[in-house]
Amino acid sequence: MVSPKHVCVIGAGVSGLAAAKAFSSRGHRVTIVERSCDLGGVWEPARSYPDVQTQSPKELYRYTDRAMPDAYPEWPTGPQVHAYLADYAKSFGLDRMLRLDTEVAGMARRADGRPGWTLSLCSKDGARTNEDFDFVAVCTGQFNEPRELHCPGEDGFLAQGGQILHSSKYGDPSLAKGRRVVVLGGSKSATDIAVNAVKSGAREVTIVMREPVWRIPYFIGGLVNFKRILYIRAQEEMFAGWGIGAMSRLGYRLAAPLIWANWRGLESLLKAQLKLNKCKMVPKERIEDGVNCSVPIATPGFYPMVADGRIKAVFGSFDHYEGDTIVMSGGERVGADVAVLAIGYKLGVPFLPDAYQQKLVDADGQYRLYRLIANPDLPELGFVGFNSSFCTVLCADLAANWLVRYADGQLAQQPTAQQMRDNIEMMLHFKRVERPAAGVYGGLCVAPYHFRHFDELMADIGARTQKRGGPAGHFQPPDADAYAKFLASAPQYQAAG
Ligand SMILES: Cc1cc2nc3c(=O)[nH]c(=O)nc-3n(C[C@H](O)[C@H](O)[C@H](O)COP(=O)(O)OP(=O)(O)OC[C@H]3O[C@@H](n4cnc5c(N)ncnc54)[C@H](O)[C@@H]3O)c2cc1C
Repeated sequence: MVSPKHVCVIGAGVSGLAAAKAFSSRGHRVTIVERSCDLGGVWEPARSYPDVQTQSPKELYRYTDRAMPDAYPEWPTGPQVHAYLADYAKSFGLDRMLRLDTEVAGMARRADGRPGWTLSLCSKDGARTNEDFDFVAVCTGQFNEPRELHCPGEDGFLAQGGQILHSSKYGDPSLAKGRRVVVLGGSKSATDIAVNAVKSGAREVTIVMREPVWRIPYFIGGLVNFKRILYIRAQEEMFAGWGIGAMSRLGYRLAAPLIWANWRGLESLLKAQLKLNKCKMVPKERIEDGVNCSVPIATPGFYPMVADGRIKAVFGSFDHYEGDTIVMSGGERVGADVAVLAIGYKLGVPFLPDAYQQKLVDADGQYRLYRLIANPDLPELGFVGFNSSFCTVLCADLAANWLVRYADGQLAQQPTAQQMRDNIEMMLHFKRVERPAAGVYGGLCVAPYHFRHFDELMADIGARTQKRGGPAGHFQPPDADAYAKFLASAPQYQAAG
């Protein structure tokens, strides 16, 4: 018998909505606390830069119980994703659970001695209240606290009329018109903004990044949607995963020449298609060594603009400002009116007390989360959306379904605290030693191991069908409708009392 809980979901982005749906549909009372004035998280209109669209194809960026509208393009725009999320929230009554303009400022174990947490909530007008919850789902994402970069000479640059802004604040393309724009960063946001600045009539556009990285075009070879090549189980199986035995290791060793040829072939294709030699943008790193959540999609137009000089590429970083000039770490001097810092976001759960932070995050920044969802030393607490990937909505949906069962003691394979600790240690060893690329973003990234991660979640949940067999199982990308069926095949229950 499962008793209903009062659950606080922190954050109303993709993950918060998934968590609210999973807990409420099992009979729990849910309050979603969101500090912003609207739902959507990174897709909230005020936070989106112009021309933003998903990197994931639409059938990979959806919940198991709601497809994106047929009328949407393969890669939906920011406003379309926001409309999809708003519609999802309305359809399942999640909008009625929302408390907007309310920030979680702190949390502590409940003073009344009952299991759960007391959250310190701060409303927009500054009023603070404390509220008790039986369980808390942290769904605050990885893209909320913009990183800062301050270089010597910044005050002088600003005083003579220069502008410095984080990429999340590049909301008005007229900012670029007729001006010299310098974008710092190599992510998709950086290349999107550089291309947008050219299209918006900037006088000069420069992109500054540490080194060239592999970028994946929407259509590989100009023909095949990248999901059909890079998101499939057969491709994932080219990477040795965690916890494998001696026989599997031997198998990987024997297959090494074929796997090597597979990656060199892909690199050759990308070099030819994107004209990387002409752009002087051939990455030094082997493509397979860097596959994780940070592999960007190539913004259409980016490489052609680099090739014909509309975007100038500089390798390095900002060193200092001198008047209206930015001096780079390699000594290059670039005149600038606007500096856009596409340097990402700080990871963290700042409202968690220090003692618990230490249980959650190791000194090297690696997160201690079983299945990237729960920590045995942080009771009545779970994390949704911390298993990020190239199909984050599906990841959040499956994590939310796992978490509610974990919280209710209803996983078919409910782990003991010791099993969780042992597994966390094994995963940390994998990320630190065996595949350092898996350690990016605090280790909170399942790419390229989507299927492996989903298989584990399905097995824990007790889904009778856990994966698709045959060619579809090996050569098709994750299918949200199939995961809906797998979830439905697990034993069902309802909280009551
Ligand atoms: C431009 C862009 C494009 C992307 N495209 C893709 C893509 O194509 N495919 C893909 O898989 N992923 C993509 N991502 C990654 C994206 O972050 C995830 O897909 C997903 O949207 C994350 O959702 P989330 O709910 O976990 O986090 P968020 O969307 O960041 O939502 C977290 C919410 O928590 C709220 N919050 C934070 N702290 C507090 C607090 N203390 N109190 C109250 N509320 C709080 C925030 O205001 C926010 O609304 C993209 C990201 C960006 C920035």
